[in-house]
Amino acid sequence: MGTIHKLSPVLSNQIAAGEVVERPASVVKELVENAIDAHSTQIDIVIDASGFEKIQVIDDGNGIAPDDVELAFMRHATSKIRDRRDLFNVHSLGFRGEALPSIASVADVILKTSTGGPGVEYHVRGGKTVDKKPAAARRGTDITVSNLFFNTPARLKYMKTPATELAKINDIVNRLALGHPEIAFSVTHNGREILRTAGRNNQLQVLGGIYGAKQTQKMLAFQNQDLDFKISGYFSLPELTRASHNYVVIILNGRFVKNFNVTKALTAGYGSKLMVGRYPIAVVNIEVDPTLVDVNVHPTKQTVRISKEEALCNLLTKTVAAQLSNQNLIPNVMDRE
Ligand code: ADP
Ligand code: MG
Repeated sequence: MGTIHKLSPVLSNQIAAGEVVERPASVVKELVENAIDAHSTQIDIVIDASGFEKIQVIDDGNGIAPDDVELAFMRHATSKIRDRRDLFNVHSLGFRGEALPSIASVADVILKTSTGGPGVEYHVRGGKTVDKKPAAARRGTDITVSNLFFNTPARLKYMKTPATELAKINDIVNRLALGHPEIAFSVTHNGREILRTAGRNNQLQVLGGIYGAKQTQKMLAFQNQDLDFKISGYFSLPELTRASHNYVVIILNGRFVKNFNVTKALTAGYGSKLMVGRYPIAVVNIEVDPTLVDVNVHPTKQTVRISKEEALCNLLTKTVAAQLSNQNLIPNVMDRE
């Protein structure tokens, strides 16, 4: 008799959760990305105890049809891509169909959703369905995750302090809000509102909400393009810097990504105006044909491969340098609201 057997879905989802659901902030990221993909105009995020007690995301998006609810919690089940061609032309933030089953395998999840018609409430715990019943209809989705990592004590032990976990949540939410200034976000922690954006498609306003309106007065707007890339955003004057490159937010086709080459290209534009070890505060929006980007590099999709990255970096450096030398000549060129 052979010794190889197939793992149960619950167990394989828990294994996937190891990559997708590293900490409370990853749950926030996945749930909010789903809300964004559902074309929401308003997303409210309610957190208790740094996410260990509760993470709730309420959106006014498309909702999930009652018959689709169980499928949404199955691995590799997605409404976002269908075939190979779609995989190389991803327009949504999600596409792997891994987040909901992964989260549900290590927590309690209560999902209330409606596409406009009759709604449904679905409760799943540790990957097993607890309950499914009709619920009052309001178009959109209201999902609550509690008891995170209740069945994976090793993961729970590896968590940092509540303050650090909250800071990571903050960081993720800020990036998501910067990437989608057209959506009105609110974030509440232990009953206190910690971020609110207006959803008026004004990225400078979102920056003001995060760093304070005073700081945004020390920022310059930029915009440029070549044949492949359209870049835009804001970066701080050399007088406003940080000791970490974490405040350089890169948004590629609406998805925040990590790319140190792009960060380096941005700082290169400052030339010697930036002290060693200091980084600006910035948001760099990059628009590019999705077929030039491979987002299927890592389960969290924060690492992406960009074709013609060098041309992109050169464009950014050149644009920042030109803008910085201009601002001495014509102050206040940017439009402030
Ligand atoms: P993915 O986002 O990669 O498709 P998920 O596991 O995150 O995978 O979600 C599975 C499916 O559930 C999605 O494809 C989508 O159809 C549906 N879904 C999840 N969250 C929402 C939401 N907030 N609004 C509408 N549909 C949702
Ligand atoms: Mg998703």
